[in-house]
Amino acid sequence: MVYSIFESLESESRSYSRAYPATFSKAIGSEIWSTDGKRYIDFLAGCGSLNYGHNPPALKAPLIEYITNDSIAQGLDMQTASKERLLQVMSDLLLRPRGLDYVVQFTGPTGANAVESAMKLARKVTGRTNIVCFTNGYHGVSLGALAATGNQYNRSAAGLPLTGTTFMPYDGYMNGAINSLEYFSHVLNDKSSGLEMPAAVLLETVQGEGGLNAASNAWLRKLEYICKAHEILLIVDDIQAGCGRTGTFFSFEPAKIQPDIVTLSKSFSGFGLPLSAVLIKRSLDQWRPAEHNGTFRGNNHAFVTAAAAIETYWKNSELSNNIAIQSTRIDDWLTRQIIKHQGDIVKSKGRGMMRGLLCADPDKAARVTKLAFEQGLIIERSGPQDEVIKLFMPITTSDELIDEGLEILEHCLNLVFHKDIASPTPPVRQEVVLQQAI
Ligand code: PMP
Repeated sequence: MVYSIFESLESESRSYSRAYPATFSKAIGSEIWSTDGKRYIDFLAGCGSLNYGHNPPALKAPLIEYITNDSIAQGLDMQTASKERLLQVMSDLLLRPRGLDYVVQFTGPTGANAVESAMKLARKVTGRTNIVCFTNGYHGVSLGALAATGNQYNRSAAGLPLTGTTFMPYDGYMNGAINSLEYFSHVLNDKSSGLEMPAAVLLETVQGEGGLNAASNAWLRKLEYICKAHEILLIVDDIQAGCGRTGTFFSFEPAKIQPDIVTLSKSFSGFGLPLSAVLIKRSLDQWRPAEHNGTFRGNNHAFVTAAAAIETYWKNSELSNNIAIQSTRIDDWLTRQIIKHQGDIVKSKGRGMMRGLLCADPDKAARVTKLAFEQGLIIERSGPQDEVIKLFMPITTSDELIDEGLEILEHCLNLVFHKDIASPTPPVRQEVVLQQAI
């Protein structure tokens, strides 16, 4: 048996490489090619870190120019021209138009580090320890963020007791059998409930890893109301649902809430470069210099692409409008699959272009995504048992590529659920497009 260098030298901790066992070398927009020349449609989008696709030209050009000019690559958290530009663009195009008076803290480059910072700040500002988080929430795997993450598989790797958090039922938990916020409100008011008064509530508006559970606008507004009434800070982790994924730059915009703290990462740089930030209501910015330190708080290449992404995609409502159109098309397709595969597909999940199909049998869901990969579509699953097939194409994907990807997926659903009668012919465009790209 000959082992690849990945198998012989890379740690067993690797994961995506097992699900997609090809070696990739080239990617443009929503398409990606392996070294053996096979073309794939990308419905994974770097798990939400490639919302604008691979190598978007409007971001690549300024980055190349920046590097060619010997501009600053690493500047710790010093003032640089690229950071100045990003802050200005954020102020002009993201924050002021939305009436958000946040300051921007650049943290270490991972999403987990932004979450760590948000949790630490909430504790520091309020003097309380407990943070309320939600069933099926995912916030990263460093110890603080992991304590707020529901998944037992991830939690069990901590090696330490995970403390300082209390889990509450998310909107719709137990199929809506309980009114989760009524419960939360009740235990907050009951001095004998055992709930330690929280510093903050930490949540995703749509739970990316937890199975694409989407909180309703009414639920989010009520949660904000409860937080205000008890002087609890509201932290929205917009690492996966933000940067346009659900249709607006911030996922909480349609709910018309204003979180006290917001975390951003994944597609914040727009180019797949590591960059994270915490947005903090001005009055809460009680950090002292270097308290939440980090060498890589100044990914200047990412500052360049982040500024270009915001200027390219968020200076008007064009992209948002397009996401709304695409999500309606995707929704129609999801509805057709639910009708066709009654019993096998339970329901559709998510919001905007953060959508999924809940399968009754997680093993069958796994067979669908494995088959899809073999047929040239990269797509993953999420949820407590990986039972939700997660449609996560870049939000800039063309109609043609969305249709082509959905066709492959439909074909695989038909095969796994044995409904081959109406199965579309598997796509045959591989060679043609390959010649253009390589
Ligand atoms: N929060 C959310 C909502 C996420 O989806 C993720 C990553 N999936 C994280 C935090 C952690 O980000 P990272 O993997 O970059 O640490």
